[in-house]
Amino acid sequence: VGVLLDPIKRFDNFIRLWQEGYTGFVRAMELLEEGVDIADRPGATPIGAVEGRITFEQVSFRYDVDGPGVLAIVSLEIAPGEFVALVGPSGVGKSTLCSLIPRFYDVAGGSVRIDGRDVRDLTLASLRGAIGVVQQDIYLFSGSVRDNLLYGRPGASEEEMVTAAEAANAHAFIMALPQGYDTDIGQRGVKLSGGQRQRLTLARAFLKNPPVLIFDEATSALDNESERAVQQALLGLSRGRTTLVIAHRLSTVRHADRILVLTRDGIVEEGTHDQLMARDGAYAGLHSVQARI
Ligand code: ADP
Ligand code: MG
Repeated sequence: VGVLLDPIKRFDNFIRLWQEGYTGFVRAMELLEEGVDIADRPGATPIGAVEGRITFEQVSFRYDVDGPGVLAIVSLEIAPGEFVALVGPSGVGKSTLCSLIPRFYDVAGGSVRIDGRDVRDLTLASLRGAIGVVQQDIYLFSGSVRDNLLYGRPGASEEEMVTAAEAANAHAFIMALPQGYDTDIGQRGVKLSGGQRQRLTLARAFLKNPPVLIFDEATSALDNESERAVQQALLGLSRGRTTLVIAHRLSTVRHADRILVLTRDGIVEEGTHDQLMARDGAYAGLHSVQARI
C-alpha cells in the first residue's frame, strides 16, 4: 500500500511547493526528478545466483523528500546465512530499514547492497524474487489455503506444497480445516489464529525458497504452543539463508547469531543475547521490561 500511496503523496508535495512560488517551483522540479517511482534503472541487471551478503553503507532515509529523516545513518553488514534479529522501541525504523532491502523504497543517502551490488542496479523482479518477506496477515488473501501457498511459487507440485507446509508446522492444522488445502480462508466460520496465519506465510516463503528472508514478527501475543510452532518454523526456514528478523519476542531473539538494537540514534548495540545481557545496556533494559510483562 505504501508503494501505491507514495506517488500521490509526492504529488501533494509538488502542488504545495508549486503554490509557494518560485523557490517552491525549483524545489518542485527537483522533486519530480528525484521522485521517479521505484523502477528498473536503464542497464539494470538480473541478480543471478545470490550468496546473501547484505550491506548497508551509510544509509539514510526519509519518506518525504522534504520530510524528517526516519533512520539515523545506518551501516551494517550481514554475512551470508547469518540470522540477525533487529530489536528496539516502536517507531525507530525497524520495518523501514527492512523495506529498503527489497527496494520498496529507495535510500536518501548511502546504499543498500546484496553481495556487493547496489540494489538499484538490479532488476526489481529478480531482486524481489530473491527475497522472502513475511509480515503478519497482509499477504494472505481470501481464497483457498492452496492458492495462498502457491502464490509463493505458482508452478510448485502438490508434494512440494505439502513439504513446505510441514516445515512451517502448518500441515496438521491445515488438514484439520473443513476442506483441508482447499478450504477458503476468507470463508465465514474459518477462523485462523494469529499463529496459524504466520505459519501459512512462513510456508509460502518456504515454497518460494529465497536466499534472503525477512520476517517482521507479529507484535500480538501468541499462545505458548503457537509461539513454539512459529519459532520452530522460523528456525527451520532460516537454515541456509540470510535471515533478518524484526523480533518482538525474547524466544526469537535468543536464537539469533547476532542481535542489533536500533534506537533513534541508530544501531547502539550488537552482539549475541549473552553478550548483550552481560553488557547490561539498552538490550538488557528492553529485556527486563519484557520479562516483567
Ligand atoms: P518500527 O518498525 O521500528 O516500529 P517503522 O519503520 O514502522 O518503525 O516507522 C519509522 C517511522 O517512520 C515512524 O515515525 C513512522 O511513523 C514512519 N513511517 C512508517 N511508514 C511510513 C510511511 N509509509 N510514510 C510515512 N511515514 C512512515
Ligand atoms: Mg515495525
